Amino acid sequence: MNLSGKVAVVTGGSRGIGRAVCLRLASAGARVVVNYVSRPDAAEETVDAVKAKGGKAHAVKFDIGAASEVQTGFKEIIADLGKINILVNNAGITRDGLVATMKEDDWDTVMAINLKGAYNCIKAACRPMMKQRWGRIVTITSVIGFTGNAGQANYAAAKAGLIGLTKSVARELASRGVTANGVAPGYIETEMTDGLNEKIRDKILSEIPMGMFGKVEDVAGAVAFLCSEEARYITGQVIHVNGGMLMA
Ligand code: NDP
Repeated sequence: MNLSGKVAVVTGGSRGIGRAVCLRLASAGARVVVNYVSRPDAAEETVDAVKAKGGKAHAVKFDIGAASEVQTGFKEIIADLGKINILVNNAGITRDGLVATMKEDDWDTVMAINLKGAYNCIKAACRPMMKQRWGRIVTITSVIGFTGNAGQANYAAAKAGLIGLTKSVARELASRGVTANGVAPGYIETEMTDGLNEKIRDKILSEIPMGMFGKVEDVAGAVAFLCSEEARYITGQVIHVNGGMLMA
C-alpha cells in the first residue's frame, strides 16, 4: 500500500481511532493533517508519534460542526500543502440518554458534529478532489448505525445518516475518480470500552463471535485499504470491523 505524495486530513486525529488512522496512513507514506478541537496536547502527541516513525504530520484546529471554521481550516490546508487527496471523517461524540428524556440540545449537538460535521468536511474537500480527478473519502460510522441501541437514539440516527450521505456522495463523485466509503467499527478497545463495568463487558463479549474487542489498528487497517489504489473500484460501501458481531 503506497500513499506517498498524498495529503490526508483526519478529523479527530488527536486520540483513539483517529490517532491510529493518522499513524497508519503516515506509515503508508501520506502526509497527515491531524485535526482536533479541544486537546492540542493530544494532537501534538499524534504528530510526534507520526514523526517518530519517520512520517510527516501537523495539527490543525477546527470544530467540524462549525461550517465557517471547516471552510477556513480546509482553505489553510490547501494554501499550505497545495492539495487534499484523502479525507477521513472520524471525529465523533456521544450524548447518551433515553429518547423520552433526551435533552433537545443533546440530540442537536450529536447531529451537528457526527452528521453535519461530515457534510461540512466533504463539502470543503470534494472540489479539490474532483479537480485532481482522484480522491478518497472514508467516513467512520458504527455498528450502532445498523442495529440501533437503547440510550443512543441520537448517535444511532447520526451514524445511520452517515451511510446515506456516503452512498449519495459516492454516486455524485464516482465519475471524477473520487470514492466514498464507510467503516463501521463494533466495540473497539478505547477509553470508552475501558469504562464499561464487568457485567456489561461480559454481555457484549458474549455477543461477539471472536470473543474479544477490536483494536484501533483493526479500524485503521480497513481505512488505509479504502484510501489505497488497491481499492480504486470500491465505492459506496461499508466495511464492518466488529469481530462478527453483526454480519450485514
Ligand atoms: P475519542 O472520543 O477517543 O476521540 C474523539 C476525537 O474526535 C478526538 O480526537 C476529538 O478531538 C475529536 N472531536 C470531537 N468533537 C470534535 C469536533 N467538534 N471537531 C473536531 N474534532 C472533534 O473517539 P473514538 O476514537 O472512540 O471514536 C472515533 C470515531 O469512531 C467516532 O466517530 C466514533 O463514533 C466511532 N466509533 C468508535 C467506536 C469505539 O468503540 N470507540 C465504535 C464505533 C464507532 P479532541 O481530542 O480535540 O477533543
